[in-house]
Amino acid sequence: MDYTYAPGRNHLFVPGPVNIPEQVLRAMNRNNEDYRSPAIPALTKTLLEDVKKIFKTISGTPFLIPTTGTGAWESALTNTLSPGDRIVSFVIGQFSLLWVDQQKRLGFDVDVVESDWGRAADLDVLESKIAADTAHTIKAICIVHNETATGVTNNLASVRKILDEYQHPALFLVDGVSSICALDFRMDEWGVDVALTGSQKALSLPTGLGIVCASPKAIAASESAKSVRVFFDWKDYLKFYKMGTYWPYTPSIQLLYGLKAALDLIFEEGLDNVIARHTRLGTATRLAVEAWGLKNCTQKEEWFSDTVTAVVVPSYIDSSEVVRRGWKRYNLSLGLGLNKVAGKVFRIGHLGNLNDVPATAGVSCRGRDGAEGCGLPCEAGKWSGCCLCIPAEQHPNDSFK
Ligand code: PLP
Repeated sequence: MDYTYAPGRNHLFVPGPVNIPEQVLRAMNRNNEDYRSPAIPALTKTLLEDVKKIFKTISGTPFLIPTTGTGAWESALTNTLSPGDRIVSFVIGQFSLLWVDQQKRLGFDVDVVESDWGRAADLDVLESKIAADTAHTIKAICIVHNETATGVTNNLASVRKILDEYQHPALFLVDGVSSICALDFRMDEWGVDVALTGSQKALSLPTGLGIVCASPKAIAASESAKSVRVFFDWKDYLKFYKMGTYWPYTPSIQLLYGLKAALDLIFEEGLDNVIARHTRLGTATRLAVEAWGLKNCTQKEEWFSDTVTAVVVPSYIDSSEVVRRGWKRYNLSLGLGLNKVAGKVFRIGHLGNLNDVPATAGVSCRGRDGAEGCGLPCEAGKWSGCCLCIPAEQHPNDSFK
C-alpha cells in the first residue's frame, strides 16, 4: 500500500459522491429480496410518487434506472431523439463537455455554444438561434443546470422564457445531477421535458441509481424517436408499470430502501428547507473563500452555485497540491480541478445531507497562519492555525506517506 489514511474520519467534500447519513446506511443494511414479491412493487410505487416531488412535477413520469448520471444522460437523449437531429448544447465546464461528447457519439447534430469556464451558458446566443430557427430544425436544448466543475448554476427559467417567446417546440433536456434536491428546480413550472439526477449527489445515497423524469411531451417523443436503445428504453419500464410489477430487470433492493430513507429525510426537513440550507452553506463557503483572499471560479454572483464552490488558487501554485495535502494531512477529500481548470482550482462540495458544523470542517483546513507551505497567500503574522500551509517537515501527519 503506498498510502495510509490520516487519523480521523474521512471528511468527504468532493461534490459527489457525498456522505451517506446513518439512517440511509441502516435502511440499506439488509439482505436481498425477491423483487417479484408483493413488497418491492409496493415500495417502487411509493418511490415513483415520491421522486416526483423532488422534481416538482405532477405530470412527469419518473424512471429509476440502475445506472449513474452518464447513463441517465443517455436515457434522456436516446428515448427522445433520432440520429441526425439538431440539438443546441452548452459547454461551460467538464460535465457539460462530457455530455456534448456523448451527444456527438450518439449521432446527433450538435450545435455547441461555448462559454469561458467560470461563466454560465450564453443565453443570448440561444435566443438568436431560436429566433432564426423558424423552420424548427432544432429538436432539443440540452443544458446542465449546475456545472459541477466550475460551480456555475444556469438560469433555466430564462431558457424556458426564450422558447416560449418564439413559440419554439424544441424539447428542453436538463442535467440536474448536482442540483436536484439541493437547488431550486421546478420541472413543471419551467416546462422541462426531461430532467435527471444521480443518487450519489444531493440525495446522499451510494452511486448506482439514475433518476430520470419525463414530461408527457417527452413520453410522446419517445414513441417516434429512432435512436437505438435497449437497457435504457422507457417503453420496457412503461410496460412493467402497467403490469404493476415495475421492473424490466433486477433492481438493487438495497438502493431502493436507501432511496426511501433518503426521501423520508428530505420530506421530514421539507424540500424548501433543504434548498434554503444549501443556500446558507453555499453562502458560508463563499464567505470563507473570500476571507482567505481567494477568488471564486464563478465569474458573476448570479451564477454562484450553492452545491459546489470552485476556488481559484494563485497562478504560482498547483491546486492539486492543496487537494493532496488536505487528503494526506487531514483525511479531507476536496475536488480536483478538471480539464481546462486542472491545477488552477480546487472544489469544495457542500451538498447533500450536511449541516453547518461539518461544512465548517470542510473549510477549516485553510485557517490563518503566518507559516509558509501550501503557497496560498496568507499575510504573515495576521493569521494563525492554517492547516494546509504548515511546511511538510513540521507537519506531524506528513509521516503518512
Ligand atoms: N452531470 C454532472 C453535472 C455531474 O456533476 C456528473 C458527475 O459528477 C455527471 C453528470 C456524471 O455523473 P456520473 O459520474 O454519475 O455518471
